[in-house]
Amino acid sequence: MHRMRNVKVLATLGPASASEEKIRALFEAGADAFRLNMSHGTHEGVREMYERIRNVEAELGRPICVLADLQGPKLRVGEVAPGSELVAGASFRLSLKHGPGDSTAAELPHKEIFEAIEVGAALLLDDGKLRLEVVEAGEDYAVTRVVVGGPLSSNKGVNVPDAILPLPALTPKDRRDLDFALSLDVDWVALSFVQRPADVAEVKKIVAGRAFVMAKIEKPRALDQLDEIIEVADGIMVARGDLGVELPIEQVPGIQKSITRAGRRAGKPVVVATQMLESMIDAPVPTRAEVSDVANAVFEGADAVMLSGESAVGDFPVEAVAMMDRVAQSVEHDYQFREAIDAGRIEPETTTADAITLAARQVAETLKAAAIICYTASGSTGLRASRERPNVPILVLTPVTQTARRLAIAWGVHCVLTEDASSFLDMVIRASRVAEGEGFAVTGDRLVITAGVPFGSPGRTNILRIATVGTERGRGRD
Ligand code: PEP
Repeated sequence: MHRMRNVKVLATLGPASASEEKIRALFEAGADAFRLNMSHGTHEGVREMYERIRNVEAELGRPICVLADLQGPKLRVGEVAPGSELVAGASFRLSLKHGPGDSTAAELPHKEIFEAIEVGAALLLDDGKLRLEVVEAGEDYAVTRVVVGGPLSSNKGVNVPDAILPLPALTPKDRRDLDFALSLDVDWVALSFVQRPADVAEVKKIVAGRAFVMAKIEKPRALDQLDEIIEVADGIMVARGDLGVELPIEQVPGIQKSITRAGRRAGKPVVVATQMLESMIDAPVPTRAEVSDVANAVFEGADAVMLSGESAVGDFPVEAVAMMDRVAQSVEHDYQFREAIDAGRIEPETTTADAITLAARQVAETLKAAAIICYTASGSTGLRASRERPNVPILVLTPVTQTARRLAIAWGVHCVLTEDASSFLDMVIRASRVAEGEGFAVTGDRLVITAGVPFGSPGRTNILRIATVGTERGRGRD
């Protein structure tokens, strides 16, 4: 079984999709990867979902990628009396310690905010519905002017777009969740509210290679150091929910393009997330605008498109995945897709792996080969091949289960677990067998194979071989 598209679908699991039957149905409808949102539910619930994914994986014989998304430092106001309403133009005071809030003042139990904000800074409450401007900044309080008013209730979220907050990359809850996710053996860990490269570096140090780390780009300040963050991370997510709160919403589409382009340049998987098919939470068909949104991400060359509430709590989780699959296939069949992808092509770096993967793409496209076959242990050559965005499928052959699962989120990559090649002949015969068996090639088709010799020594892609399926029992026309 293989997908008829390059872009991948990442579906968030939740109450609407936690059963093994639903997970199987989501996979069959097109989900390549599942997101376990650590902001909700218990560890026990997450463990059950994880085990069900692995059961489906074993049953269907295809590697499935699992991403655990850490909540990160969510900032909130304290208790507020029912019926409180902030009035535009009025003064509103926030302080570290305060009894129940009202229309004039509230508790903000985060000293890091008071340490960081200056006069003129914006504070956004309740997903940006209310907007305040700081007119006086004290050590443990701020006096603000209400710019956009409205009702305020207890524990609403607070965003501080203008400041780098002296917050740790991981809260105590994130640390517990991270330990737990690693004990499950998840493939990716996503870090929320990344502000600087050091945040990602800290998590990578703890993770110590046990998973790939994805930086969620949702803070305007992260954009100032985007390339540096991408350099440290293994992948990135365009987390448009919080980006759209912290930045003028009309800037988000352009920023999405910049982030996607930066991720492609670095050869690190990019996920475009949030509200992609939002109306499908309670309707069986999306709006035209939502379909266009998914289509744009595919045209931009994102590695994966993500469903959040649509698959986690919606009434139509399977339909939402199937819709993404259909939109992606339709876009990828449009002649303008190849033009758009090629227009975003990036120069190779001066490494052997890039020289080989660039050559593999050119040879495969010239010969109209059925597939590029990458033998890889760590997955790094598979990701470099994906960075080339070739117009033929990439089959990643790896003896490492984690590699097959981690790369299941990468553009154009179809992972197959198999032993490493032991000789040139074995390399060609194994590649042909897998390409035929997985439905990518038939007798007479050409394959372009990359591998490293001596065989069995990881991190050394240094050969390219052209082979013809079915003629290889030792001699053939290759
Ligand atoms: C987002 O803000 O877009 C996002 C993906 O993060 P979360 O769903 O965890 O808020």
